[in-house]
Order: sequence, then structure tokens, then C-alpha cells
Amino acid sequence: MSNDSLQKEFAKVVGQDNIMTSESEMHAYSYDSAVLDQVSPAMVVRPTSSEALGQVVKLCNDNELKLTVRGAGTNLSGGTIPHPGGIVCLTTALNNILEINEEDLYAVVEPGVVTAKFAAQVASKGLLYPPDPGSQAVSTLGGNVAENAGGLRALKYGVTKDYVMGVDFFDVNGELVKSGSRTVKCVTGYNLAGLMVASEGTLGVFEKLILKLVPPPKAIKSMMAEFDDVGAASQAVSAIIAAKIVPATLEFMDNFTIKTVENFRGAGLNTEAAALLLLEVDGHPAQVEDDAAQVQEICKQNGARQFTVAQDAKQRDAVWQARRDALPALARVKPTTVLEDATVPRSKIPDMMQALKRIAREYKLTIGTFGHAGDGNLHPTILTDKRDTQEWERVEKAIDEIFDVALDLGGTLSGEHGIGMAKSKFMHQEHGLAAIEYSRRMKSVLDPKDILNPGKMLGPLLA
Ligand SMILES: Cc1cc2nc3c(=O)[nH]c(=O)nc-3n(C[C@H](O)[C@H](O)[C@H](O)COP(=O)(O)OP(=O)(O)OC[C@H]3O[C@@H](n4cnc5c(N)ncnc54)[C@H](O)[C@@H]3O)c2cc1C
Repeated sequence: MSNDSLQKEFAKVVGQDNIMTSESEMHAYSYDSAVLDQVSPAMVVRPTSSEALGQVVKLCNDNELKLTVRGAGTNLSGGTIPHPGGIVCLTTALNNILEINEEDLYAVVEPGVVTAKFAAQVASKGLLYPPDPGSQAVSTLGGNVAENAGGLRALKYGVTKDYVMGVDFFDVNGELVKSGSRTVKCVTGYNLAGLMVASEGTLGVFEKLILKLVPPPKAIKSMMAEFDDVGAASQAVSAIIAAKIVPATLEFMDNFTIKTVENFRGAGLNTEAAALLLLEVDGHPAQVEDDAAQVQEICKQNGARQFTVAQDAKQRDAVWQARRDALPALARVKPTTVLEDATVPRSKIPDMMQALKRIAREYKLTIGTFGHAGDGNLHPTILTDKRDTQEWERVEKAIDEIFDVALDLGGTLSGEHGIGMAKSKFMHQEHGLAAIEYSRRMKSVLDPKDILNPGKMLGPLLA
């Protein structure tokens, strides 16, 4: 079919107003939040109904057009960089919260609902949706499920997969497949909803999500501990976990990040501290008091020179604003920000921190490190300028080495940012060739023409 005829076909499905083809528009959808080369699609379509979404998938399959579904495009692994000349399908108009069920504690949503808007709606009913990626003000729930997004509360509450009860999705033929259920328990058939989690748009296109909700904690306490030594802060993390306390949040910032955050907003952080731990415990008020006291004791035993407990909501907000500022503050330092999320078993955080220091020194790079220390999920952030080709070569070597170290320590390539195009070439190192081949066989059966987000996660399917 000619380009004109194809456009007419898509226009019949989504309406002419929801089709983009101009050069500037294609440029706008040629990249996402990963630092990768841009690739322009041939067309961007924006369905405004579930039916239209299914028809877009079918049209792509029938005409062998590569399809990349896109929520907010905030993924950090190149998951929404289109195939050259392919179609980008935006889910942003499919943004209805269809049900919040207070009796059975679930919600049904369309995939384009913005995470923070959903969390606020849920909170207004006195309930909690815990997954809280740093991008939640703009990211979509469909994108969160497709990346299995984490966030600050993952240590105690888990990640997105722990809240996915069901996914209705279009297969590559545009057939609607329903999976999961609205019940707490459901063991009928393969776990297709589970298969959709972290599938990065490669196996199906989500039409609706059934998400679990929980009651919010009755009490919360936020704290900040300052250390003169990064090793001591890492040991404190291990000691807190070993004491069988599960904070809702246990975050880390190194000295470079502390100074950069302080420059950014003047949050009153101690720029002399080698490391900060930002912590939150929640639950029953008596338990919270007990946990907070123990956390304080453990931090002091491990060399914390200052320990502050937020006394009110304003002080609590200040603690978490400082943490939320980490990435935007670091991103201002140099033109290119490479945010990694290789993750290690928690007990290996001290080794990982030492390795990062060595890698920064050896490759002469600026690396600020912050992140979810309680999950072993640090974010070493390389600040560079991609136009400096010599430095960029060193950056690429440093990234390879960060992955090698994480895997040697028994960790994983990604704790929450996904694989996309950025890390697909490393997958066999973590999972072995048999797992990659098994996944490829599954993908080739479910999507024989390799229509759905080709080149992501497993690399190119059809050579
Ligand atoms: C400042 C910043 C902070 C961040 N903080 C965190 C964090 O704390 N934790 C974390 O986990 N991530 C974080 N991220 C990464 C990112 O926000 C998450 O991966 C998020 O889940 C992506 O959502 P999105 O709507 O932007 O999805 P997109 O980037 O648009 O898409 C992500 C993937 O989902 C697929 N997809 C989207 N919609 C559908 C659908 N309907 N059906 C099938 N597949 C679909 C896409 O094809 C793509 O593969 C951060 C990113 C930024 C820029």
C-alpha cells in the first residue's frame, strides 16, 4: 500500500487530527529519555478509543509496519525509540480511570493515565497506590507496567508488578486478550498478565490495567543520617536490613550529589557529609516509633555524625524534595546525563560503591551516585558531553564495567529502568543464551513478523 493510502487507512481509524507526519513532529518522537541515537518514525498516531487502539495494531500487522507504543516517553533505556520508518502509537488520549473499587481494593484504568494523577485520585479515597517512580508527574501507568517501574517505596511495598492484578491487551493481530482478574487470588491458566509486565511493548499493547490498592499507613516518620564515610553509610544500610527493619524508603546520596543538590535549591544539606541516608518508616504508630528509634541507634553505631528526624510535614517534604532534586540537579552539570541502575544484592553495596569510585577515577569521569540503597539499586550518574568523542569512548567503557561489576557481585543489569535498546547486548551475560533463545522463540510465535517494538530487549529478532 502506498504511503498516502496507508495514511488514509490510519485516518479512518483515529481521525485525521490524530495523525502526525511532519518532519518536526517526527523529530519530536525520534528519542526518549535514554542517551541513544535518534530514529524518526514515518507516522505518529493517537487513538482516542480502545477500539481504535486495537485497529491500529491490526493495521500495522496487516501491512508489516513496525509499531512502537509510547506513553510519556520517559523510559531511560530507549524503549520508545521507533523503528526507522515505523509507526509510533501514543496512548496519552486513553487516560480514563474507569473504576476505583474501595470495597475490593482495586482500580481499573486505561494505559495512558498519568501515574501521579492516579495516585492522587486513589489517595482522595483514603487508599494508596505505592509504586512511585521519580517520573510519576508525567509517566503513564501503561509505561510503568511495561517497564515494571520501581520507585522510592519499593523496599517495603515492592514494584509495579506487585500491583498488577490483570492486563487486557491487544495481541499483534489486534485481538483483545483478557488476563488476570479482580480477585485477590486467581490461578487459572498461564500468568499472561505477568508476561505483560516488563514486556516493553514487545508482546502486546495494553488496553486496560487492573491494579491493586492498599490501605495507607497510619503513621510515617522521615529521617536523615549524615556520614563522614561512604563505607560507613553502606554498612549502616546492611545493618538496618540485618536488624529485620523494613523501612518504606532507604535512599542514598554521595557527597558530589549532596553538593549539587545544595547548589540547585539550597535545601540546607550538609555539603561536608561524605554520604547521606534518607529514610522513612511507616505503619502502626507504636511500630513506627520503635523502628525509628532502632534506625537511629544503628546509624549512630555505624558512625552517623548527625541524625535528624523530621518533626512535621514541612520538614518531611524538605527531606524528600532534596532526594527528588538529585537527578534534575545532576543533569544541569554537563550536557549529557547517563543514569544507570545496575543493581546488586544489598549486602554488596559497599563493594559496588568502591567499584564506582575506582571506575570514575580510572576513566577520568564525573559520576554522582544516589538511589535506592535499601534495594541495592544505586543510580551511578555519569555527567559528560556526548560530543566529546574521546570522553564518550571512556563513558562507554565505564558503563560496560559497571555492568560487569554488578553481575560479578550477583546483581542485575537493571533494577527498574528496563533493557530497551540500551542494554539488550548485555542480556546474555546475565541470563545465559538459553534464556535469550527461549524468549526469542516465544516472541517469534506471538509476533511472527516482529511488528511489536522490534529491536528492544532481545535485540533484532529477524536478522
Ligand atoms: C526524571 C526521571 C525519573 C525516573 N524515575 C524512575 C524511578 O524512580 N523508577 C523507575 O522505575 N523509573 C524511573 N524513570 C523511568 C521511566 O519514567 C519509567 O520507565 C516509566 O515507567 C516510563 O513510563 P512512560 O509512560 O514514560 O513510558 P514510555 O517511556 O512511553 O514507554 C516505556 C515502555 O512501555 C511501553 N508501553 C507504553 N505504553 C504501553 C502500552 N499501552 N502497551 C504496551 N507497552 C506500552 C513502550 O513501548 C516502552 O517500551 C524515570 C525517568 C525519568 C526521566
